[in-house]
Amino acid sequence: IGQVIENIEKCGTKFVRLQFVDIHGTPKNMAIPLVKPDQMEDILKDGLLFDGSSVEGFVDINESDLILKPDPDTFSTLPWRPEEKGVCRFICDVYWPEGKPFEGDPRYILKRALEKAEKAGYEYNVGPEPEFFILDQDEEGNLIPNDNGAYFDVEPVDQGTDIRRQLVMDLEALNFDVEVSHHEVAPGQHEIDFKFDNALKTADAVITFKQAIKAIVDTMGYMVTFMPKPFFGENGSGMHCHQSLFKGGENVFYDPDTETQLSQEAMYFMGGLLQHSPALTAICAPTINSYKRLVPGYEAPVYVAYGLKNRSTLVRIPASRGKGTRVELRMPDPSCNPYLAFAAMLEAGLDGMKNKVDPGEPTEIDVFGKSIEELKTLGIDVLPSSLWEAYHALEKDDVVRSTLGDHIYTQFRDIKKAEWDDYRIQVFDYELDKYLTI
Ligand code: GLN
Ligand code: MG
Ligand code: MG
Ligand code: MG
Repeated sequence: IGQVIENIEKCGTKFVRLQFVDIHGTPKNMAIPLVKPDQMEDILKDGLLFDGSSVEGFVDINESDLILKPDPDTFSTLPWRPEEKGVCRFICDVYWPEGKPFEGDPRYILKRALEKAEKAGYEYNVGPEPEFFILDQDEEGNLIPNDNGAYFDVEPVDQGTDIRRQLVMDLEALNFDVEVSHHEVAPGQHEIDFKFDNALKTADAVITFKQAIKAIVDTMGYMVTFMPKPFFGENGSGMHCHQSLFKGGENVFYDPDTETQLSQEAMYFMGGLLQHSPALTAICAPTINSYKRLVPGYEAPVYVAYGLKNRSTLVRIPASRGKGTRVELRMPDPSCNPYLAFAAMLEAGLDGMKNKVDPGEPTEIDVFGKSIEELKTLGIDVLPSSLWEAYHALEKDDVVRSTLGDHIYTQFRDIKKAEWDDYRIQVFDYELDKYLTI
């Protein structure tokens, strides 16, 4: 704690933000102006009381007191805030005033799943590939992509070169180990990848990443969206997740003695991901809009299959072996709550290992080139095609449900049902175009 306080003082900090996320993974915070030097020490030790009743998925008004406890490992200064009298932040864990962890805190759900894995000797790593759009306004005030660039384009077609340059430098100031940044397939679409880490660090990082990118690009006069499918007819934004399990510093998914150099554990873990994929989709692709991304033809998965080099499948095993051996799940999108998504992915994979779920043979055909009927004869299932279908799959999946725990499951279910009902009664332009002449 002494070191952390020294860091805060060294940075000339004026405000300390205590941050956490709601059930959707939306960052929330309160800022404390630093007045007394010992104030921060108390907060780091005892946490700070707050009213949790207005936070989505948290508590009722009649039991609204909760405590935010900063995790000292998450200290960082915010590069997009003023340099003088700057701002630093901590990501916090949420507790009941009595001192028990709060079951509605998504970070706790992930920590609990990781602890369970740790007891079996496993460290779970995730490396995400978040995609997003940079938007500009046209004369009528409509939000449009900021350029007409495509995959890997260079300036001046790519109008994001300097924006990404600034983003990468600011992310580095936030301790990100950025691996690559590039223009993506759709106009205005970009990707910035950072190095994998244990799932808790990566989930924290995904929250920081989205927050930082939106805030920084906002100061440049553009807007960023992580919405999974902002434009019909263009690629959507995914957040593919590369996963591995380590035991005693060794990658459990690697086995030099098999033909594919993948271990039996890797196969079973993948079997678990495939088996639980309908319910996982509810958590990893949790918005109505997510399902407009999961359609054929846009490099997003639709069918429950895995491939080694095949990018049309739900799960892909990249060619890298040894320490880099990993399983890539391609259905998550950046609208997910990364704490809940990683917890669910981990438990699904471990369940596959426990029950020795055979993922079958890899699919090396382009699944987009086949009809649903043909795929059915090959034993390939289809992912949920709507939030409502995924919702029902989640209802039936005890492994994913128990990962979330009763509190979050019930809240998530009620919120998603309300979201679906709200959507269901809307009348869209599409319908007017199609049916008005009836
Ligand atoms: N945008 C695609 C998706 O939705 C991925 C495209 C890519 O990374 N090549 O998953
Ligand atoms: Mg990529
Ligand atoms: Mg990509
Ligand atoms: Mg990928």
